[in-house]
Amino acid sequence: MKKTAKQITSGTNRRNRQRDRILALLRSTSTHPTASWIYDQLKVQFPRLSFGTVYRNLGILVNERLVNRIDFGSTFDRFDAKTEPHYHFICEQCERIIDLEVPVDAALEHLVDASSGRKVHRHEIEFYGICESCSISP
Ligand code: ZN
Ligand code: MN
Repeated sequence: MKKTAKQITSGTNRRNRQRDRILALLRSTSTHPTASWIYDQLKVQFPRLSFGTVYRNLGILVNERLVNRIDFGSTFDRFDAKTEPHYHFICEQCERIIDLEVPVDAALEHLVDASSGRKVHRHEIEFYGICESCSISP
C-alpha cells in the first residue's frame, strides 16, 4: 500500500522526535552514557524503539557534531553532548568519566605545530586516577 503524505510525515516526525529525545537525554547528564543506557531510558517512552535505532540516531548526532563519541579503550562507546573542548578524568576504580574544569591549553597545540610542521586542529587529554567517591570508600 502506498503511504499517504501524512503517514510519511508522521514517520519522519517520530524519527526526529526520537533523535531529539536522545539529544535531550544526553544533554541532561554528564555521565557520558553508553548507547544501551540511553536505550534503557527511552524504551519506556518509545516501546517500539529498537537498540539499532538508538545506535543509528547516535551516529547521526555524531555526524552532525551535536554529540561526541568517546572511546578510551573501553569495550563500549560512550557519548558526550558537551561538544566544546574539555578534558576528562577517568576513575580507574569505578570507570566514571568526569568532565574537568581545567582550561584547555592552546599552547600545547602551538608546541606541536611548531615542532613538527603539522597543522593541529584539536587535542584531547584524559587524566587517570581515583575519583572523590572511590577515595572515600575504597
Ligand atoms: Zn571512582
Ligand atoms: Mn565530557
